[in-house]
Amino acid sequence: MCWPRSAVKALLISTSLVSVCLALQVRAQPCGLTGLAVQVLGSGGPELQDKRASTGYLIWDHGRARVIVDAGSGSSLRFGESGAQMSQVDDFLFSHFHVDHSSDFPSLIFSSWFGDRKRPLPISGPPGNEYMPSTTEFVHDLFSDPHGAYRYLSELVEPGEGGSYQLQPHDVDAGPVPALVFRNGDMTFYAVRVIHGAFPALAWRVEIGGKRIVFSGDTNGSGDGLTQLAMNADLFVAHNAVPEGAMGVERRLHMPPSVIGMTAANAHVKQLVLSHRMLRTLGKEKQTQTEIRLRYSGPLAFANDLDCFPVR
Ligand SMILES: [Zn+2]
Repeated sequence: MCWPRSAVKALLISTSLVSVCLALQVRAQPCGLTGLAVQVLGSGGPELQDKRASTGYLIWDHGRARVIVDAGSGSSLRFGESGAQMSQVDDFLFSHFHVDHSSDFPSLIFSSWFGDRKRPLPISGPPGNEYMPSTTEFVHDLFSDPHGAYRYLSELVEPGEGGSYQLQPHDVDAGPVPALVFRNGDMTFYAVRVIHGAFPALAWRVEIGGKRIVFSGDTNGSGDGLTQLAMNADLFVAHNAVPEGAMGVERRLHMPPSVIGMTAANAHVKQLVLSHRMLRTLGKEKQTQTEIRLRYSGPLAFANDLDCFPVR
């Protein structure tokens, strides 16, 4: 709770109260003001009871919010809390289109309506199949006239209409070996297809200023592609969605800590961040850390919403 201004004035004598209030108002610390950093917009999975936003990340570069990776529920609120503006964002990446990675996309886009964005926004993500839309379909299913859910914003996808900026969706048909997908100014984007059940999914590597930032997305970790993508990463964000010993569909969709640790070790990553924390992994951090430490000895952190990880 914050005290009303008049109450604070009356209690100015108690400077500690004032500082508590300010601390609550300024929840997010500035991230990436002087270099590169990844801010966690959502450290949870699909469950709401974990009291975390679902998956989302933001790459900061000297005070500019440049790349968004995924947009699960609640991540748009965290984006606002981070102090970022949609007008700053150069690229939007999707790992896949499960709800916990994509449902806040229209919220972020609509928020930009009230900003001053003019330039197009490239959106890159996986192709589709019978279970999932492609990235192009996802964007058009939301915004295109006459069938899009939010077709009142169709000028975002129909050139020549209105005065808004354009969304530019791209389907990235990545293979099992990491490949250069595109460049945008001083940023280079690599992707590899990863296995996440039957759902088309990508892991991403973003290179800026000689630094490598890698996002596993959701994957069971099978194959060598993720390790190759993460090779010598300065920061590797991996998803801690299942505990060690997970079986059945959980294991077919997600990688346990031992696989995360092995991938981080084989790829010689310089910093490992565990995110996409779920009720089945929350509270098991000690066990998770033990499994990872058997294989990987570098810096390791468990992500919370709005955490800021400098990339040095
Ligand atoms: Zn997920």
